[in-house]
Parts: sequence; C-alpha cells; structure tokens
Amino acid sequence: MKKIKNFEDVVCPFCGTLCDDLKIILEDNKIIEVDNACAIGTAKFFSSNVSEHRYTKPMMRNNGKLEEVTWDEALNKAAELLANAKRPLSYGWSSTECDAQRKAVELMEICGGVLDNTASVCHGPSLLAIQDVGCPTSTLGEYKNRADLVLFWGSNPVHAHPRHMSRYSDFIRGYFRVDGHLDRTIIVVDPRTTHTAQMADMHIRLNPGEDYELFNAIRALCRGVELDVKEVAGVPIKQIKELVEILKSCKFGVLFFGLGLTMTKGKHRNVDAGISLIRELNEHTKFNLTPMRGHYNVSGANIVFTWSTGYPYSIDFSKDYPRYNPGEFSAVDILKTNDFDVTLIVASDPASNFPKDAVINMLKKPLISVEPHKTPTSEMADIVLPPAIAGIECEGTAYRMDKVPIRMRKVKNAPEDCMADYEIIEKLIEKVKELKGE
Ligand code: SF4
Repeated sequence: MKKIKNFEDVVCPFCGTLCDDLKIILEDNKIIEVDNACAIGTAKFFSSNVSEHRYTKPMMRNNGKLEEVTWDEALNKAAELLANAKRPLSYGWSSTECDAQRKAVELMEICGGVLDNTASVCHGPSLLAIQDVGCPTSTLGEYKNRADLVLFWGSNPVHAHPRHMSRYSDFIRGYFRVDGHLDRTIIVVDPRTTHTAQMADMHIRLNPGEDYELFNAIRALCRGVELDVKEVAGVPIKQIKELVEILKSCKFGVLFFGLGLTMTKGKHRNVDAGISLIRELNEHTKFNLTPMRGHYNVSGANIVFTWSTGYPYSIDFSKDYPRYNPGEFSAVDILKTNDFDVTLIVASDPASNFPKDAVINMLKKPLISVEPHKTPTSEMADIVLPPAIAGIECEGTAYRMDKVPIRMRKVKNAPEDCMADYEIIEKLIEKVKELKGE
C-alpha cells in the first residue's frame, strides 16, 4: 500500500521571501503535491524527486567522463586537492543553510583559501553602502502591518519574488492596513515597464544607469531646493515633485531595492544615496528600506561569515587571518586573475552566469562541485559531491531578506546516502586536517 504523508507550514528554500506556509504531500518519499508556493518554489520541491537531472551518487572524472565512485573515494580526492592547494577558492553558499556556511569558514581558514558568496555579484554594493552609512530597516511583518507606501526601485518582485506582494508588501491585509492593496500606494522606479510597474499606482521611468542622479534630485527637492532643469535622469521635474509629495506625506513608507540599483552604474553609491534619502525622509515621516535578496539564504551567508570573520563576503585567509577586499578577493576577480589553484563550488552554478574568461580559467584547474542537480558547473567538474537538499531533505536555518532567521523543515529523505552540505564539509575538514597533520 502506498504511504501518504502531509506536511504543513513548510518553508520554501528558493528566494529571500522564505514563505513559511507551504503544504506538501508525499507519496512513498516522492513529492506529489505542493500547495501555496509560487511556480518557482513549486518547481524546486518537485526537482528534489529522483530524476535524470539529480545526482544520487558521488562522481569523479575519469578519461574525460564523470563516473560513479564511492563517497570515500570522492571525499579523499577532494580533500587531497584542497590540502595540497596553495590558494583554493570556495564560492556559492547562498542556497544552503547556516551550519554549512559555518563549516565553510572553518574549511577555508584551514586551507588558507578565499571564501566568497553570491553577494559579490548581487547585493555586495548594498553591504558596502550599509557599512558606510547604516541602514534604517525593519521586518517584512512590520511592513505588512504598517506600510501605506511601498517603493520598488530596480526590482521586479512579480517575477523574482512572486509571493512578496501577496504576503508582505501589497495585497496582504495588515493590522493598520485592513484593506490590503486599497490601503497602499505602490510606486515602481525602473527603466523598463516590468509587470510590477504595470501593477503600480505610479511608474517612474528613469534613464538606465541614472539612479544616483534621481535619488539626489529627490533629496534636493525634499529639502526645498529648487532645481533649475526640466528633467533629471529622463524624469520630468513635475513628476519628481509629485513623487516627493507622496513620499513625505505617507504614514509609513518602505523602499525595496534590487539588482537594478546595485548592479548598475554607481553600484554602492546608488545604495548610499538611497539610504541617505530614507534617512532624510524620516524627518517628515517614518520610512525604512530592505534589499530584495535573491537566493533564499544569501542574507544568512553574509551574517554567518560576518559573525565568524568580521566580513560578509570576499574573504581571504592566505595570511592566516581574514582579510576583506571586494573587487580583489571576489570570486570573479580571483578567477579572472588566475590567482587560485582549486575551486570548491557549493550550491551554485557560476559557469552559467560568470564572465566567460572567469569560467574558462575555472575550468582549467581542478573543480569540486557540491550540487544536487546537473548544472553546467557540475557537469564540467572533476568531482561531484551530491548533497541532501537543505529545507527539503534536511533541516537547517536560513535568514529571510529582512534578516529574520527561520528554521526550515525536512519533508523527505535524500536519495541513496546523500549527506547534508554541512556533513560533507565536516568530512572534508577532518580529512584535510589529517592530510595537513593538524
Ligand atoms: S516567493 Fe520565493 S519563497 Fe515564496 S514560494 Fe515563491 S520562490 Fe518560494
């Protein structure tokens, strides 16, 4: 007889919204139904079922082809590569749980390597700006209950965080926003007419790459300075003045910003200007900001790396103590300058999205991939260590985009004898220590 199991209040380990109200139905360790999740969250749960896309056993390259090996063989070889490396690079870590991230710091410290997470190609500039000028922020629950003005700048939650608006920022009813959507004004600042922009009450269509100019024009008008121009960043002064009045007169506003702000010209200076605007708006009303974090635990990676080393990403251990320098110790820069000899990629697929010359260099040297699914990176790796998927096949803690830690559940068993990411890294640490005589 088939065994059916129901799980409620399951956390979705896909995006930084970390929805915690999913219902999962399991039939003989196979997920057959996912309720409440969006399309991308649902796809992640179904992708955990064993299929041709899933690794169930460790693999090692032999005569150009990946072949199944035992865990001992794969772990011994990976440990040998890491122990003998002068400067290993480890990258990824944002789509796994906090214990694995903690172990990552230990492993790279022992190896004298470079440790980076995906923040270096997404919200790294936000972290730099926050280190410079601080960050007036709050929780998604607070925004749900209080925010009557929501400003999305360079982010498109309809596609990147599909349940954000229905759970926290627009349609949801809150304690002081009893009519949900009708009680809020939504403004989108984006050069493109995205689906989020189409749903907004106001769309400010600025020129690409001119966010910094627009922020500072808003700041000037907020202070009562008259601008002697007809438009800034392609936006007519009349519309900017209208925006300023809306911003100043709301009861509780929030700025959510995405990669459209952090990865365009100006980078951390854009975020710096955004934070300065929020600080100034707090002289007129209550206003906060929160970065729209993509990977479900990239916030956790920044937090865990910071409480272990003092720094959130791009950390170098080659001098036996942690050094921090984004732009020098970021994974893309290390790969481009060829300043590494082995790569350990965990829960990430840089071959799909890093610059071509960085990927070419990565593939010239030994590559270890800890990855449950076939990806361009894992398929070109020399060793593949397949883990249990965190938040589906093992428990763990992840930090939501507003830095609230949430405990993720296990709903099914991992295939074969796949171990959790942290167990794999723990075993590598033991073996590397043994090889190094520590
Ligand atoms: S919005 Fe994000 S966390 Fe929520 S169900 Fe969709 S992918 Fe998962």
